[in-house]
Amino acid sequence: MTQKRVFNFSAGPSTLPVPVLEKVASQMLNYKDSGMSVMEMSHRSSSYLEIFNETKDLLKKVMNIPDNYKILFIQGGATQQFSTIPLNLMKNGKADYIVTGAFSKKSAQEAAKFGDVHIAYNGSDNNFKHIPTQDELDIREGTSYVHICANNTIFGTEWKYVPDTKGAPIVADMSSNILSKPINVADYGMIYAGAQKNMGIAGCGIVIVREDLINEHKDNIPVLMEYNTIAENDSMYNTPPTFSIYVLGLVLKWIDEMGGLEVMQKKNEEKAKLLYDYLDTTDFYKTHSDKDNRSLMNVTFTCPNKDLDAQFVKESVIAGMTNLKGHRSVGGIRASIYNAMPLEGVQTLVDFMKKFEAENK
Ligand SMILES: *Cc1c(COP(=O)(O)O)cnc(C)c1O
Repeated sequence: MTQKRVFNFSAGPSTLPVPVLEKVASQMLNYKDSGMSVMEMSHRSSSYLEIFNETKDLLKKVMNIPDNYKILFIQGGATQQFSTIPLNLMKNGKADYIVTGAFSKKSAQEAAKFGDVHIAYNGSDNNFKHIPTQDELDIREGTSYVHICANNTIFGTEWKYVPDTKGAPIVADMSSNILSKPINVADYGMIYAGAQKNMGIAGCGIVIVREDLINEHKDNIPVLMEYNTIAENDSMYNTPPTFSIYVLGLVLKWIDEMGGLEVMQKKNEEKAKLLYDYLDTTDFYKTHSDKDNRSLMNVTFTCPNKDLDAQFVKESVIAGMTNLKGHRSVGGIRASIYNAMPLEGVQTLVDFMKKFEAENK
């Protein structure tokens, strides 16, 4: 028996495009007459290599990735990269970190185990409702790289510009806004993301890194943490997360067929506008982030008090929505409206919010 699908506002793992799920279901027992599911294939088989290469080519096409960048499929999620980045890229023992939320704080703490980490901006004083302007950044000359988190999943803030880092490559955690809009990959030394928010399912992470940053072999770090080795082996030094890569390929095809990242951005802006425009007309709900750096992906707000927050979450379930409870560090409500969330889902949420406000103010 099939139950009606809910509008799932989870921050991650998150809702997936229905056509992708349908495709997975239709290919589950017998992928393209191979007589087996993708899960059961050797990663060296021709059937699987076709999936793998198509996925890589599609990512390159959809994100318009220049030829001098390597695309790596990795396990261990974005968090694994918090350690892998300093091990590979902290060439002179120094790196600068811009701390705009919980994940960038964790990544800076991890990097500090391996070298001299300078916090170029720390947003904890305002509970991370703000993205620093260029003037607020204190970046050192000659630092190996500058790390940023492009979209702060927990707090609902997003960078709207690429900072000037005095020539140092930018390393960007794009776990929660990759594929949500076009970006210029060449502005970054490295981009990384876990797949389970906007790209597919858990188990696979993506690293897009400029070749010259990883061209030398390092023999003093764990082999699966060395970008050079992973790149030389085309992400198959060991078994890659085969099924997650397959789902990523289907998500990319879905985006590509819809018209690519420009179309994605338009849809995402339309959805976010619907929600933020309503939030701006009412005093009942309060948004967490500063107006000029609000995230298109994670919308955070609170009701007048904690009891109403809890009641909101409870009643939203009855209205066909789920996972709207905010992260404990912000409280309130968080609506994650990634690529796969339809406009109809956001409209359902706004209608519910209006009704809830009318009943409780
Ligand atoms: C979810 C998230 C992470 C952590 O990802 P894992 O895959 O669980 O390691 C890191 N950074 C950002 C911005 C995230 O949204």
